[in-house]
Amino acid sequence: MSLVVYNTLSREKEPFVPIDAGHVRLYVCGPTVYDYVHIGNARPVVAFDVLYRLLRRRYPRVTYVRNITDIDDRIMVRAADNREPIEALTNRTASAYQSDMQRLGALAPDHEPRATQYVGEMVDMIGRLVDKGHAYPAEGHVLFSVPSMADYGRLSRRTRDELVAGARVEVAPYKKDPADFVLWKPSTDEQPGWPSPWGRGRPGWHIECSAMSARHLGETFDIHAGGLDLIFPHHENEIAQSRCAFGHGLMARYWMHNGFLNISGEKMSKSLGNFFTVHELLDQYPGEAIRLLLLSAHYRQPLDFTHEGLVQAKATLDRWYGVLRGRDAAPAGSVPQAVEEALSDDLNTPLAISALHQLGDPATLRAGANALGLLQQDAEAWFRWAPAGAAGPTDAEIEAAIAARQAARKARDFKESDRIRDDLKVKGVLLEDGPKGTTWKRG
Ligand code: AMP
Ligand code: ZN
Repeated sequence: MSLVVYNTLSREKEPFVPIDAGHVRLYVCGPTVYDYVHIGNARPVVAFDVLYRLLRRRYPRVTYVRNITDIDDRIMVRAADNREPIEALTNRTASAYQSDMQRLGALAPDHEPRATQYVGEMVDMIGRLVDKGHAYPAEGHVLFSVPSMADYGRLSRRTRDELVAGARVEVAPYKKDPADFVLWKPSTDEQPGWPSPWGRGRPGWHIECSAMSARHLGETFDIHAGGLDLIFPHHENEIAQSRCAFGHGLMARYWMHNGFLNISGEKMSKSLGNFFTVHELLDQYPGEAIRLLLLSAHYRQPLDFTHEGLVQAKATLDRWYGVLRGRDAAPAGSVPQAVEEALSDDLNTPLAISALHQLGDPATLRAGANALGLLQQDAEAWFRWAPAGAAGPTDAEIEAAIAARQAARKARDFKESDRIRDDLKVKGVLLEDGPKGTTWKRG
């Protein structure tokens, strides 16, 4: 079954043809780590995790790189506000990010490079660009010369006027052209900095991804992905840097972009303050419910976040886990055709989910859901889930009450066994007696 993906570069769906069918290479832009990420930031992680899983089913080797931006002005400001060293802040938030993404069922990428570990590669790349006449030093900065690249702007398809308007925020006297962008900037003694031929300084954001992708995936690779907001300027500038430094016509063959997660029709973002962190949502909902909500719309479409949506997603998973319950020994089997077909058409996850609703056989359901990174846990574990800080009995207390009820039944003391069951029910725990004994769930 051939994979078709929408390529932002051509604005069309195209058959996916890897550069090397023996080794597929994928890069996704990761977060800037200064705080917990919001659920919008998780959308590219979850959407492209489905892609990674699919590629791994089809190709013998896949290398997936997702970076961590750990040098940025927002990080410097936050560390100063918190009165903590930058490294302490970035280490803490990067670890929280990794654990939150794992709880959303995202596989760890093969490499998760941190920008500060690759400054040498960035300096080398900037040096190449200067040598080739694509960049110039000015007042401690190094700038990429946009007019030096004949076909700059192909990804975002912006006109010259739009480019200049988009870059206006950065207009500075040392720029030769208003569209030129920063590759390197000077640092004061108090700011983090690295030595370079242009003085002590730090890299611009865009050069980070060009250097880290080249280091782990090569000068050209298959798929580069991220959110819609990265098309311009971030990805446009990555392309300019990588193509001009390495002299290829392409940086990546396929550029994939997810749509926004909105809240009341507006993009969820830190700056608007209309966000929920993944961390706080994980206290209230199971990770798989958050994941199912994120996959319920096609990745290129906008998706409106609501708590109601999460409640519905949890109810769907309750039903699916109910099908698996008591049959957990069933092997997962291969991904059902309808699910594989839907995902092969530019990751049509809503269609794949509707196909899952048609499946009643536990092994097939699990295999299909696994392709979406869902139904990854034991059904009993799913039903034991409780929100953080919830009142009510612990697992051990519930197990002890069930044992006591069992003993009462054996002694034919049905009054006592019913009392125990009713007491648990009041505390939000439902018992179900089945052929293999008594199971329970928090409801
Ligand atoms: P940032 O840390 O802001 O660079 O964002 C990390 C990733 O999350 C990028 O791929 C962004 O495009 C993506 N992103 C940020 N906000 C949203 C949103 N509201 N919906 C979907 N993706 C987003
Ligand atoms: Zn990037």
